[in-house]
Formats: sequence, C-alpha cells, structure tokens
Amino acid sequence: MSETIPVRTIETPPKKKHDAGRIHPRSFRGFYRRLRIAGGSALFALFFGTVWLQWGDRQAVLWDLSTKQFHVFGSSFWPQDLLLLSAILMICAFGLFFMTVWAGRIWCGYTCPQSVWMWLFMWVEKQAEGDRNQRIKLDRSPATLSKLYKRAKKHGGWLLISLVTAVTFVGYFTPIRALVPDLLQLKADASAAFWVMAFTTATYINAGWLREKVCVHMCPYGRFQSSMLDSDSLVISYDVARGEPRGHRKPGADYHSAGLGDCVDCQMCVQVCPTGIDIREGLQIDCIGCAACIDACDTVMDKLGYETGLIRYASERELAGGRRRILRPRLVGYGAVLIVMVALLAWAIATRSLVSLDVEKDRSLYRFNHQGQIENSYVVSVLNKSHQDRTFRLHVRGLDGLHLVNAAPFVVGGGERVAVPVAVAVSPEALPSDVLDVEFELEALGGSSRTWQETTRFTGETQSPR
Ligand code: SF4
Ligand code: SF4
Repeated sequence: MSETIPVRTIETPPKKKHDAGRIHPRSFRGFYRRLRIAGGSALFALFFGTVWLQWGDRQAVLWDLSTKQFHVFGSSFWPQDLLLLSAILMICAFGLFFMTVWAGRIWCGYTCPQSVWMWLFMWVEKQAEGDRNQRIKLDRSPATLSKLYKRAKKHGGWLLISLVTAVTFVGYFTPIRALVPDLLQLKADASAAFWVMAFTTATYINAGWLREKVCVHMCPYGRFQSSMLDSDSLVISYDVARGEPRGHRKPGADYHSAGLGDCVDCQMCVQVCPTGIDIREGLQIDCIGCAACIDACDTVMDKLGYETGLIRYASERELAGGRRRILRPRLVGYGAVLIVMVALLAWAIATRSLVSLDVEKDRSLYRFNHQGQIENSYVVSVLNKSHQDRTFRLHVRGLDGLHLVNAAPFVVGGGERVAVPVAVAVSPEALPSDVLDVEFELEALGGSSRTWQETTRFTGETQSPR
C-alpha cells in the first residue's frame, strides 16, 4: 500500500490581501498558462457552441423539461433511462478519483468551470483596472470619477459574461434559438426569465466575488481530494532541497558559496497565486493546482540563468530522491473500475430498449360480455423512444382461449407515448381460478422481430354466467 501524502489541513500562513480581504494575483506568462488557456478554450467552445447545434428540426443537445426528454444528437433519453445518467455521474466521479491519485487537483487547475470562469473574470479585471500593483493602488485611492469608471467597466464586463453564460445554460433546457429572440423582445416566459436572472447572479457572485473561496471553502472535492493523494501522486511542489536557504543575492554572485539555495525570495510565486498561498510552505489544502507558481518561478529562473523547475509537478517520493511509481494499487484499482464502468455503460446504451411497455388493469374486476365470456379491461401504454413512427400489435398469453377483443395493429409516433384501451376475454369454463397471471406481448411490425412483455392479472369467476 502506498502511504497518504501529508497535505496540510491546518491554517495556511496569512495571505496577502489588499482590498477588504481580496487577493490581487499578478498576471504572468508560461507553458502552464497556455495549457490552461487551451483547456478553458475547449470548455468554452463546447459550452457556448454545442447549444447552437441543430439535429434535424430540433436542438442537438436539449433537456426538454416539458416532455421530460433529454436529446443528445440522434438519441433521446426518457425518465426511464435515469439509471444511465446515474452511471454517467458515477463514471465522472471515478474519473476524478483516478486523476486525483495520478496528478492531484489537475481537474481544478485546467478544466473546472469555477476556475475557468474565475480566470476569465480576472482577465476582465486586469483589462479594466490594470495589473496587481495598479489594482492595489486603485483600492487604496479615494473615490474619483476615474475609479468609478474603471469599476463600472469591470462589473459591466463581469455582468455581460454572466448574462451570456446564464442564457447559454438555460438554452440547454429551453430551445436557445427561440429563447434569445424572446429575451431580446421581452417575451420570454416567466420561468425562463427567472432562471436567466438567477444564473446571471450566481455566475457574477461565484466568479467575480467568491472566486477562490468556492474552491477552498465550498467545493466538497477540494476537501476530500487531499485524502486521496499518495506519495507517488504528481503535485505542485517546491523543491526545498534545491531552493533553501532562500535569500536575495546580487546578479552573477556565487550564491552557493554564500550558503544560499536557488530561491531568490522574489515572492513572484506568491503574487501570482489566485488563492494567495505560499507553495514554499508545503502542499496546502488551499492549492487549486493551477500551476501559476510554476510559470512564475520558471520565468524568474530563466531570467537568472538558473535551471527551471524549482517549483514543478513532482511526487513526494521524487522530491525525497526516490523514483516515482506510476503503477500502484490505488491508481490501478480506480483505472480498472473506470474501464469496467465505461464498458458497461456503452453496452447498456447500445442494447437499451427503444420501446417501453406498461400495462395497467382497469379498477373494475371483470364483466360478462354479450358472448357470455369474462372480460377484463386494461390500458396498455407504449412509449416509442426512437425518432421514427412504429407499428405494433398486441398479443395476450397465459391460458387457452384467452384473447384480445380488438387485436388491430396501432401506430406510435416517434418520441410519443400512446395509451391503448384493450379488453381481454375468455370463456368462464376455461378459467382455472378466480385470479391468474397473464402476459401481454407487444410485437413490432415492419421488419423488426422484437417483442416486449409485461405480466399482469386477469380476474373472473370459475362458475357459469347467470
Ligand atoms: S500554490 Fe501554485 S498551484 Fe497552488 S493555487 Fe497557488 S499558484 Fe496555483
Ligand atoms: S518564484 Fe521561485 S525564486 Fe521566487 S520566491 Fe518563488 S520559489 Fe523563490
């Protein structure tokens, strides 16, 4: 068994806050920033683009609340398929566990919507108010028209992004090609308008005001992820052996002879950190794995002509001079469960029945018809989950002589549910008991030989009719 890495859960050192408790991260450049921009761009393209795709005459991805159907391109899912959704959520959870054991909070750093929107909001803030030092100065400056203008630009940008995000999100539940014109003409229905306002507010508060507090204090994953790391997990680490003792030095000085390590104590890694922590204090629960400190420190190392990687992705074992083990029981276990679950989900989707049959017996027990036969009434409900109209015929089994009073085929439109009232009759002499199980069989006509069965009860009395 691999040991768990000792992530600090105690209070982290006081953070550099400047504006009523706000952290002002410095902007920076580097490889991991480009990687995060690529991850964020892919997420934005997926989120803002997919909602506008059409599939036939409807939106390609739409959770239609009015019909309770979830459309994903050519497939439609019904409440009966909710189990598949649960399976997808479980796969996502195991995928997250796998990634955490392998590389810590890599999800948080590059693709979590909270982080991606937070970085976008920070970019808007920088465009409106300047970089870290200018923002700190602005916070301390008295209220002037110029300050008001900069603040208005920032909050206007945030609100605009929040509104577009909210409209897009609601557009996955209400067809967006109708929603947008309706909103522009103030004709949107009250519930759509309410949700647009609610999600605009939530996005504005989350990404603009709460930011890292969501990751640090509110996100449950942030809380439990530390217990999943082991000494071979790749985490963002400061190389203490190489960096300490830290200290300032003159350019080109022989700092090793002066007893100094590679860290020049420039504080850049702290200033770029969106959660305001100092990674040199060790791995902390507040670290969202954004790698900003790696980029900042590598830039400093490059400028000084030192080797990069003083802060880098490394396992605890590597930092202690050992070799990182990639294959270990926990990682292999999560990986195996993930593969099995994905395979099972693919099989469940591929073999999913596109027809659902439901038979409900009429509340009256039974009656005698004109031929003196005992008759029971049922409502047969057929749901056609495919997009094509289909023709069906019903059969009933369970007893010799048992038959449907009207066995004519019927059509169920694509994506529709049809309720067919039917009567089943049998002569009283053929009835072995007052209650017996009977089976309805639904046969698909027109090339398909598939059948669906549902068992229900038939009631009567074994005496002759009076
Ligand atoms: S310590 Fe580094 S990786 Fe962690 S949140 Fe701060 S900047 Fe990002
Ligand atoms: S950026 Fe690098 S050199 Fe500067 S304080 Fe951080 S670890 Fe030290």
